[in-house]
Amino acid sequence: MRMLTPRQRVILRQIVSPPYIYRWAGLLTTVGLILGVAAVVLTDVGAPTVLATSQGPAVASSSGPQARTVEDAPARGLPGLARPAITASRLAVTSTTTERPTVALTFDDGPNNLYTPAVLDLLAQYRAPATFCMVGNEALVHPDVVHRVVAEGHRLCDHTMTHDATVGMNDPDLMSRQLDRSRTSLATVFDPPAPIDYFRAPEGAWTPALDQMSAQTGMRPLGWSVDTLDWTQPGVAAIVASVQQQVHPGAIVLFHDGGGPREQTVEAVRQLLPWLQEQGYQFTLPT
Ligand SMILES: [Zn+2]
Repeated sequence: MRMLTPRQRVILRQIVSPPYIYRWAGLLTTVGLILGVAAVVLTDVGAPTVLATSQGPAVASSSGPQARTVEDAPARGLPGLARPAITASRLAVTSTTTERPTVALTFDDGPNNLYTPAVLDLLAQYRAPATFCMVGNEALVHPDVVHRVVAEGHRLCDHTMTHDATVGMNDPDLMSRQLDRSRTSLATVFDPPAPIDYFRAPEGAWTPALDQMSAQTGMRPLGWSVDTLDWTQPGVAAIVASVQQQVHPGAIVLFHDGGGPREQTVEAVRQLLPWLQEQGYQFTLPT
């Protein structure tokens, strides 16, 4: 090996055993790098997984009928939680699919021991069948009301156990268990269990996964084409006018018989049933 010159020996010594200033610089750089890498890793682990945007195509035009309604029950809202992507269901029934002048009335967020019986009395008077999208926990509290709904020829619709508007964001296993639980809680009010024909996403918060799963579990995703916004308690006249202005042959109308004070809804239904009949509408179920 060739002998090193004195200058080369100085450089080699500085590399192997650098002056203090360089040792500190090297140490701080190494610590900084380690902390940087750790921060990146922890941020990735803690970040929520965005399910709604990673599954399937972005659904629904913003002009779709369901896109108009963002909330249907503020009293049950979960402030502070991330809101799921609001989409129109691709599979939902939003029309009675007939050109005949038929209209399907739907009532969400019950059963309630005051408003549901009042609505049932009115429906009976006009021999109008309707669909009731029930919250499982309320059904367990008022099984007698659920019985009456079915006994009088109306249809049941699953609206989740707790009006959970984030159900569509859950992983498929949890979502499946949630749907099973609410459907079962409704069905087993009866012996033998009653069929649950429909599922309606709370707050209309469909995700493609929820859309698919409700259909797979045998419940037809149920939408609407006329939103009365009755849950905002805009006054009886406003609720009546919303139906009079928007109703069309095959319409599915969204009302609420639970989730808050619903005197306005009951009174609006009292006025709308004869008006719809006078217009030549027949009352039917979503098909
Ligand atoms: Zn609802």
